[in-house]
Amino acid sequence: MSTIDEIKAKIDIVDLVSEAGVKLRHAGKNYTGFCPFHDNKHTPAFVVWPESGTWRCFGQCNEGGDIFKFVMKREGLDFKDALQKLADRAGVKVESLQREAPQVKEAHERLRLLLEDVIIYYRTHLFNNKEILTYLREKRKLTDATIETFGLGYAPHGYDNLLKQFLPKGYSEQELIDAGMLSVRDADTSASRHSDTHSFDRFRNRIMIPIRDENGRMAGFGARIVDPNDIPKFLNSPETPIFTKGHLLYGLDRARKPIRVADQAVIVEGYLDVIALHQAGYENVVSPMGTALTEDQLRLLKKSTRRIVLALDPDTAGQKAVLRGLDAARSAMDREGELGFDARGLLRNEARLQADLRVASMPDDLDPDEIVARDKDEWKRLIESAKPIVTHVMDSLAVGQNLNDAKVKNQIAAQVLPLIEDLPNALERDTYRQALARMLKVDERALMSTQSQVPVMRRRPRGTTQTSQADKSVVAVNPNLKIESYCLGVLLRRPDLLYRLDKNFQEFGLSTLAVEDFEYTDHQLLFSVVRLAVEQDQKDHHHYVMSHLPETINDLSKELVSQIEKLEPVEDKILEDLLARFIDLRRANAMINNNQLRFLQEEDQQQGGANIKMYQEQNLQLAKLIHSLDQAKRKLSLKRQA
Ligand SMILES: [Zn+2]
Repeated sequence: MSTIDEIKAKIDIVDLVSEAGVKLRHAGKNYTGFCPFHDNKHTPAFVVWPESGTWRCFGQCNEGGDIFKFVMKREGLDFKDALQKLADRAGVKVESLQREAPQVKEAHERLRLLLEDVIIYYRTHLFNNKEILTYLREKRKLTDATIETFGLGYAPHGYDNLLKQFLPKGYSEQELIDAGMLSVRDADTSASRHSDTHSFDRFRNRIMIPIRDENGRMAGFGARIVDPNDIPKFLNSPETPIFTKGHLLYGLDRARKPIRVADQAVIVEGYLDVIALHQAGYENVVSPMGTALTEDQLRLLKKSTRRIVLALDPDTAGQKAVLRGLDAARSAMDREGELGFDARGLLRNEARLQADLRVASMPDDLDPDEIVARDKDEWKRLIESAKPIVTHVMDSLAVGQNLNDAKVKNQIAAQVLPLIEDLPNALERDTYRQALARMLKVDERALMSTQSQVPVMRRRPRGTTQTSQADKSVVAVNPNLKIESYCLGVLLRRPDLLYRLDKNFQEFGLSTLAVEDFEYTDHQLLFSVVRLAVEQDQKDHHHYVMSHLPETINDLSKELVSQIEKLEPVEDKILEDLLARFIDLRRANAMINNNQLRFLQEEDQQQGGANIKMYQEQNLQLAKLIHSLDQAKRKLSLKRQA
C-alpha cells in the first residue's frame, strides 16, 4: 500500500468535510450537504461517499474527487502541500518529502558495511565450532550451502570480542553501538564488571542470523540461543537507524521474487522456519521479527502480492492468538500500527489493505520446519488448504465442542457474528452467516436476530469527534479503485497506448480519456503525466513518464506498475482489454452519479424544485453517456469476436 493509500485509509472523508464547515446529513449510505465551493443555499447538491472516500458536487461545480482534491480546492493547495497536510493529520510519514541528507545516508552505508564485516566474523566462529555446526546440520537439517546462503554465524562467549576485532579495523566504538552490536552499560548496574569499557557485546554464545531489508541491504541480526537456559530464546538487534523491526520482514530480500511469481506470500513465525522452507524449495516465505505482525509489514508484502497465508505455530502466539480477545474488550486490540495475530485486527487489515489473508494451521503440534522435514509435499497441501480468517475462527471454536448443545451454539455465534459484521462486503457477510448457520445447524434467520444483541462496531456516528482507531480502518473495497489502478499501471508501462485509446474512443463517439475518468487525485496526477508524455515528442514516451513522475507519488506508480506482472503479448489484445475496462469505469461512475442524481432530484422536488432544470439537464447528459458507452461496449465485443 502506498503512503497515499495509507493516508486515505486513515482519514474519514466525512470527518474531513464536516470539519471544513460543511454540514452533512445522512442519506442512505451517503451524506449530502451544501457545496462549499459554490454559492448554494437551497437544496444540497454536495454528496460524500464514505465507502470510496470521495465527494462530488452535482450543482454548479459538477466536479468531485477524493480527500486530496477536497483539501486542494478548499485551501488552495497543490497536491504536495495537501499531501503533507493530510499526512500530518493521519500521522503518516511521507518518505519522499523527507529525503535523507547525504551525510546521514553515508553514515548508514557505513553501518551496513560494518554489519557485513560482522557477518564474516561470526561465520568464521561458526565454522570453528563443531557443536553448533552439528546442531544446524543434524538437528535443523540445514545444508552447508543453506548456512552459507543465509549467512548464518556464531557469536562467541565473551564481552569484548567485537571491540577487539573491529577497533583495529578502523571502526569506532560508537559505530558498533549505532549498529546495535554493542550494548551500553548502565552506570549503576553491576553487570558492568564483565568489561572495562562502557559497552559490551550484545550477542554472546548465540547463533546469528543476518537480517536484510527488502532490497538485500544489511539491517541487523536475529540471534538464537545455544544454551537452553539462556533467555530470551530469540534476541534481535535493537532499533537502530537502519533496523526498525516493524518495517522489516525476515527473508523478504530472497522471497520477493518468488512471492511475485507464486502470487502468494506465506508468513511463518521463526527465522529458522524461513530458512528450512527456502531450503525445501518454498521460497515465498517470510517471517515478522517477533510475534506481532504490523501493518507496515503487510504493506511491504502487498507490493508483490495480495494473497497472504499465515502459517502459525500450533503452540505459540499464533494459533491461539487468532482467537485471542474475541471476548475481550475490543479497544485493547486497537493499538495503532501494531496488530498481533488476533482475528479482528487481521480482518481489519485485510479490508484496509485489500488483501486476501488466510490461515493455515500446523498439524500434530509441529513447527513448519518440522513439517517440511517430515514430508515436503505436506507443506504445499497445508498452504493450499489455508482458510479465510473467519472460517478458521469458526472451525477452531468448533473443535471438540458439542454442536448440538444450544449453549455451545450461542457461545460460538456470539463470538463469530461480530467478526462477520466487521466485513466490509455485504455478500461476504451473507456467505459467512450462511456457513455459520450450517455449522451450528440453525436457521440463518436466527443468527440475524442474535446479531442485534451483539454490540456491533459500526462506523462512528457523525458529529462525534475523535474516536478509537478501530472505526477508521473499515474501508470498503471500492471496485473502481481496482480498475483505475490496473488501467493506470498498464498506461504507465505503455504510455504509447494512450494514442490508440484516444482514437478508439473517438471512433465510438466518446470523449477521449481525461483526468476526470479517474476518481482519485493521485491517479489523476499520474494520468496527466502519461498525457503529457504522448503530447511531447522530445523523449521516448516511457522515458518521459519515468522522469516526470512527481516525487510524492513515486511509490504509488511503482506499485501500480508492479501489479501488472503479465501483459498480453498481442498488442491489440492489451488495447481491447484496456478499452473495455475504461468503458466499464466510465459507466460505473455514470451509474453512481445517476443514482445519486435521482436521489437529489427527489429531494429537490420536495423542497420546491429550484434545481429541477439543472438536474434534468444532467440527467439527460448521463443517460446519453450511458447509452453511448453501452453501444461502444457492444461494438467492442463484436470486434473482439471477429
Ligand atoms: Zn459546487
